[in-house]
Amino acid sequence: MSISVVLFTSDLRLYDHPPLRAALDGTELTVPLFVRDRAVDGAGFAVPNRLAFLADCLRDLDAGLRERGGRLVVREGDLVDQVCKVVTEADADEVHMASDASAHAQRREERLRRALEAEGVRLHVHDTVTTAVAPGAVIPAGSDHFAVFTPYFRRWSDELVRDALGAPRKVRVPDGVGSEPLPSRDDVRGISEGLAAGGEQEGRKRLTAWLRGPVSAYEERHDDLAGDATSHLSPHLHFGTLSPVELVHRARRAGGPGAEAFVRQLAWRDFHRQVLAARPDAGSADYRPRHDHWRSEREARDDIEAWREGRTGYPVVDAAMRQLRHEGWMHNRGRLLTASFLAKTLYVDWRIGARHFLDLLVDGDVANNQLNWQWVAGTGTDTRPNRVFNPVTQAKRYDPDGGYVRRWVAELAGVEGRTVHEPWRLPDDERAALDYPDPIIDLSDGLARFKQARGR
Ligand SMILES: Cc1cc2nc3c(=O)[nH]c(=O)nc-3n(C[C@H](O)[C@H](O)[C@H](O)COP(=O)(O)OP(=O)(O)OC[C@H]3O[C@@H](n4cnc5c(N)ncnc54)[C@H](O)[C@@H]3O)c2cc1C
Repeated sequence: MSISVVLFTSDLRLYDHPPLRAALDGTELTVPLFVRDRAVDGAGFAVPNRLAFLADCLRDLDAGLRERGGRLVVREGDLVDQVCKVVTEADADEVHMASDASAHAQRREERLRRALEAEGVRLHVHDTVTTAVAPGAVIPAGSDHFAVFTPYFRRWSDELVRDALGAPRKVRVPDGVGSEPLPSRDDVRGISEGLAAGGEQEGRKRLTAWLRGPVSAYEERHDDLAGDATSHLSPHLHFGTLSPVELVHRARRAGGPGAEAFVRQLAWRDFHRQVLAARPDAGSADYRPRHDHWRSEREARDDIEAWREGRTGYPVVDAAMRQLRHEGWMHNRGRLLTASFLAKTLYVDWRIGARHFLDLLVDGDVANNQLNWQWVAGTGTDTRPNRVFNPVTQAKRYDPDGGYVRRWVAELAGVEGRTVHEPWRLPDDERAALDYPDPIIDLSDGLARFKQARGR
């Protein structure tokens, strides 16, 4: 009997899963395997919000496989050792998995290939599982990746995206391959109160609901902080419970300016992945060094703490930081504002902010998080690296009625109108009655320090 192993990583789904399809087409029996990789824990990536969401995803994947006659095998330990063990136990001939962009994923793939080759087992790595267009599929003349989004997007848009695959009808798993118990979100301590539920079924429901209506208003409303009119699909894309290929096709079929704007955001996701695949060190080192002497954790302890806690005295910044803590997710406009406030206004090393985001974000992702932080800090791919977002102007533009601030900053819930964005303008007695801090920095001082640091 021919036997294969499918190693699931950031692709925890049954729909549109090329490695699973290839394994099922090529062999009689297949072991669907997920390894809880110790290296991920060791690198500090196994944080409560993502562990809880992951547990939902694994349970849902197992349930989907069981409906089709199979089951999920879960192991824990060194990923390469565990895959080799399962290969031996199942007497498998081949292993299938998705390619991925990060340095960790690239090293993991290489180690696994060598270990399996030594056993005479072939590793098949499939592209366009975690991206719509594979890193390296479109490249500019004279370079191995695009460093600017707009020309990348032009080429990305012309690229043929492969057809999406359906889910398998039947999965036959060999006997005798043991599994550890599936994790449960109930066993995870310290998760955000408002954390979304994970799993492919949940993701597909959200996607269908999104494409049926709200996507049509996405172009006009995506920056409306209080309206919360974005898809919230990022955790599903991060864990791969939804396929980017399927999303691109379904959004294009839905059509219209909203769907087009949404597809453009999916291209941003691929863009960052092709940067990271070509420059794996961009997860921690400046992509474009600007000779910054950032303030460190020690030098800016109180400012960093106020930022993390949502007590900076700038209501929109505080609202977004509290949303992050409460939901393990933050609106994109909030991410831009809070990151700019930390890196530029407070002139704190972007890595400190990126780490805090990764500690809480359910969609926390090396490519998207680190490279967006670099974009905001001006060390990344932004063609205007010295732009600084003014949190008051931005708040008035993107939260004109103050609904977002009032939702997240309870101390300001009773402040009416736009003054909620500038509580320091309230009459003295009203201001004094609020248990809300004064701004920790004057915006013009922050701007002057940043300009000086950048030699402007
Ligand atoms: C400082 C900072 C940190 C960020 N960290 C992350 C992160 O860790 N993980 C993450 O998935 N996104 C990150 N983003 C990008 C973006 O904010 C989120 O993807 C988005 O807010 C998720 O909400 P949504 O699913 O409703 O997005 P939608 O607006 O509905 O967009 C659809 C999808 O497009 C992709 N997308 C949208 N904007 C971007 C972008 N700027 N870069 C790359 N992909 C994008 C996401 O996969 C998203 O789910 C970060 C942005 C900033 C400025």
